[in-house]
Order: sequence, then C-alpha cells, then structure tokens
Amino acid sequence: VALPGWKKLVAIAIGILLGGLPLIGFNFWLGTLIRRQGLDDISISVARSVDIADVRLDQAERALDILEIRGFTSCAPERMDLLRQVALTATSVKDLLIITADGDILCSSLDVAPGRHLSVPGGNGDPTLDLVQIGTLRFVRIGRRLPSGQWLAALVSADLLLPLTASQGGPFATWVSVTMPDGRTIVEGGAQNPATSATADLLTATARSNRYGLSVTALMPKPSGGVVWLIGSAVNGAAVIGVLLLGWIMTRRRPNHPLADIERALAADEFIPYYQPIVDISSARLLGAEVLVRWRKPDGTIVPPGAFVPLLEQSGLILDMTRKLMRRVRDEISTAYGTRPHLSVSFNITAQHFARETLVEEVQQAFGQGSVRLSQVVLELTERQPLQNMTATRRVIAALQGLGCRVALDDVGTGHSGLSSILKLGVDIIKIDKLFIDSLGNEQNSATIIETLVDLARNMRMNVIAEGVEDFQQVAELRARGISSAQGYLFAPPLPSQSFLALLEAIDLPEQTGGDKLHPLLRAG
Ligand code: C2E
Ligand code: CA
Ligand code: CA
Repeated sequence: VALPGWKKLVAIAIGILLGGLPLIGFNFWLGTLIRRQGLDDISISVARSVDIADVRLDQAERALDILEIRGFTSCAPERMDLLRQVALTATSVKDLLIITADGDILCSSLDVAPGRHLSVPGGNGDPTLDLVQIGTLRFVRIGRRLPSGQWLAALVSADLLLPLTASQGGPFATWVSVTMPDGRTIVEGGAQNPATSATADLLTATARSNRYGLSVTALMPKPSGGVVWLIGSAVNGAAVIGVLLLGWIMTRRRPNHPLADIERALAADEFIPYYQPIVDISSARLLGAEVLVRWRKPDGTIVPPGAFVPLLEQSGLILDMTRKLMRRVRDEISTAYGTRPHLSVSFNITAQHFARETLVEEVQQAFGQGSVRLSQVVLELTERQPLQNMTATRRVIAALQGLGCRVALDDVGTGHSGLSSILKLGVDIIKIDKLFIDSLGNEQNSATIIETLVDLARNMRMNVIAEGVEDFQQVAELRARGISSAQGYLFAPPLPSQSFLALLEAIDLPEQTGGDKLHPLLRAG
C-alpha cells in the first residue's frame, strides 16, 4: 500500500505503541515475579540462620547443664576428663572453660594455658553472652555463674552460626550477617556483600532470635528485570517467545536450591522407607524391622539419610516427612503385619518432634484403626541430639505408651545424657550404639558399659537391642552377656519394601487362628 511518508511514520509509531504495551505490562509482571523470588530467598535465609544459631547455642547451654548436673564447679584435675568428654560430645562447642569474672582462663577442655585472657572486642561485659576473639578466630561465649563467683563458659565458633547452605552465586546470591544483641558483628558470609558494590539497589530481610537476641540480616542486589533486554525484544517479535520462556523458568524454583529441591521431593513422595530386620539371636526368629528413610531421586539414585535428614531437620520439614513416611509404611506392611502381631515396626523420630504433643495424634491417626496395631509400633528417640524439652518429651513418651506403643532410646552411649536420660525418660527399649558393639571383643571399657546397661535394663524391665552387628564373634559376645535382640549387616542391610516383604513370606509364617487353618506343612500327622 502506498502511503505518504509521514503517514507511514505514524503507522509505525502506533504499531510500536500497540505492540509495546503488552510487553511493558509483561515486563512489569516479570519484574514483580523476580523481586518476589528474591524476597522469598532472603526471608528463608534469615529464618534458617536464626534457627541454626539457636540450635547451636542451645547445644552449648545443654553442655553447661550437664556440667552443672554433674556438679562440675572447679578446675580439680580429676574432673578434667568430664570437661573434655562433654566438650567432645557437644558438637557445636569448641571449648569448655572455667574463667574468672574478668575473663582470665582458669582451665579449659582444650588445655589452653591458664591465665590467658579471652579478649573481648568492645566487650559488653555480659558474662552470660558475649563475643570473644582468639587470634583471628571469633566465638560466641555463653557463661553461667558458679557459686565460687567464677564462670563456667562454652565457646561456639562464629562460623557455625551461618547456614550450611547459604545460596551462592547466581542472581539470588544472598549475603548474611549475624550480630550480637548490641549490634557487634559475629560473622558474615555467603555471597559478596552487595552493599559494597556501587549499584546499591538492595533487597533486605532481618530476623531476631527470641532466645538469645542475636539478629540475622540478609542482603541481595535487587535483580533488575532485564528491562534492557526486553526493549531489544520489542523490536524483534521472536524475542517475545524468549521472554515467555524466561517467565516460565522464573516461576519454577531454582533447581539447585537445596531446600526447594527437598520441598519438591517431599511433594513428589520421593522419600521412601527401607526396612532393616531386627532378629532374636537366641531363637533365630524375626522380631520386626526399623524403618530407615531413603531419597529415591527421579533418575533412580538412592540417597542415604545422612545427606538430607539434617536439612529436613533444620527446615522443620522433617515433621511432614515423618508423617508421610508412617502412612506409607502402614500401607506397605498392613497385610503382612496384620497376620503377624508379634512383629514390630520402628520409626526414627527427631528430638524436636518428640517434644510435641502432635506426635501422639499423628501416631494414633496413622495406626489407630488399621491392621498394623499400635502395640506393634516403636518410636525411636536418638540420644545423639540434645533433648529439646525434657518435660514435654516425657509427657509425649507417656502418652505414646498410653496408646500401647513402645519407645526406644537410640544410639545409647553416644549422647550427652547417658544413664540419667534413660532413667528420666522411662523408655521401653534401649538400642546400644554400633560404636560399643564394634569394640566389644577388644576393649574392656565397652564391655563394662554394655554390662552396666544390661543390668540397668533388667532392673527396669527394658529390652536391649544391639545395633550394627557385623560378625559372628559379636553375636557370641552378645549372647554371653544375655542380649538377645540384634540388628546389623550380618543379618540383613536395610531392604526395600518388596525384599523385606518377601523375606517375611519366606521365613516368618503368619499366625493362624484355628488349628484347621494351620499351614499344611505344620498340621500334625
Ligand atoms: P540409626 O537410627 O542409628 O540407624 C542405623 C544406621 O546404621 C542405618 O544407617 C543403618 O543402615 C546402619 N546400619 C545397620 N546395620 C549396620 C551394620 O551392621 N554396619 C554398619 N556399618 N551400619 C549399619 P542409615 O540408614 O544410613 O541411617 C542413618 C541415620 O539416619 C539413622 O541412624 C537415623 O538416625 C537417621 N534416619 C534414618 N531414617 C530416618 C527417619 O525416617 N527419620 C529421622 N529423623 N532420622 C532417620
Ligand atoms: Ca534408629
Ligand atoms: Ca541407632
């Protein structure tokens, strides 16, 4: 069509405007989306950091609790072993010390020379919570006053207060800083501090720990919504497709974001139970199984729990995962267990879950009316992690026992609390950690510990299970000490459900009601 020159120009201008409007709207929408993703990311970062800092400092508090309960009040040489032992088992604690009110070291689990001063940069003089510098290393010091006027102190490395998996690199890199209640920086890290770069257009989020008053701040550069790129694409219609694609990608969580990955896996039911048989070594019968979770990725790889359970625990997703796992297990074993009431099924329950009344409802809901009976269910509480709340945990244990379930203390011998927690918690079963089973034949100390535990169990009518049994010599040692329940690679590794159910069919005959219903091979005559 032949238009005069100026009309052509107007038509082109109108065309650009009409074509551009949706693109501007689209650009705006995209910008909001990117911003929201960024805000999401840093909010998660700060919330997780606060949780992590709380957990680390709680562990230090527990270590001080133990020293207090055991009457540790002075630097007497014969008590230094206790100091070292508690420091070793409290994983987030670097050193335990007794110091003067002025911060001079009197004794230390690391044998730091007495008299050395713990320097406190701009110290606030608060001996219960302060920042401490030793050389280039920084620590948070938690303290507790002793009757003598001296202080019991625990040092937690500043680095431990940062998230293990701060998102790094990429457009959503966050920079995290943890500060004392008075504003001094304890530790910072993650991506490069974006405040130091010139383009200081930033997204920021802050959270504060209620327990210790520490604050966590996260910063990230505000992602610019690719405006320049969009203008370019307005000229070239083909680029619109690219924009749509980008929008689509942005709405999906970044796949290498570990928490997002785990959330997705949970929704997709990728956490599946494996079953490790527990056997009676005096009668060679099957007693039941312990459920050990595995992550079966879409490509078929099987990931062991050590690689993801800590992240589930830090994010609180462990509660959902456990709930789902219990239901899945129930559905998988209900037929086999319905006809075998002598078999038990054990679940690993994290300490935070064991301090919540909801656990009781969840167990009741999962097993209250199916064919797997509540009396077949065992809940394992590990001694490896510090107990979250002794009173609440004891209440939950009693309520579970009220339903007819049994409660086992797991990894006995590895934790801080030892015998005292066994006594206080009133559990039905203790599981002796592999560590002791391994050294049974060649270390007098382990044998003594095991014998003490067996005696204690007998007096309190508890069952004992030996964990991680790998050879016949160990079986003989266990039998000699009157332990009849065991679990370990010698008998079977954790098995996928099909193999476990096949094993049951092969070696554990269902219980029959009437004599005439007996398996033909067992009928007399
Ligand atoms: P755990 O409860 O102490 O489980 C026993 C671990 O020892 C399992 O490791 C098991 O595969 C391994 N094991 C069993 N027999 C032997 C043996 O003879 N030799 C050796 N070397 N190892 C043996 P796994 O499956 O990797 O689980 C590790 C830990 O992850 C468990 O330790 C438990 O604390 C945790 N976990 C597993 N499933 C769950 C779950 O559903 N929830 C929670 N909260 N934690 C879980
Ligand atoms: Ca266990
Ligand atoms: Ca264990």
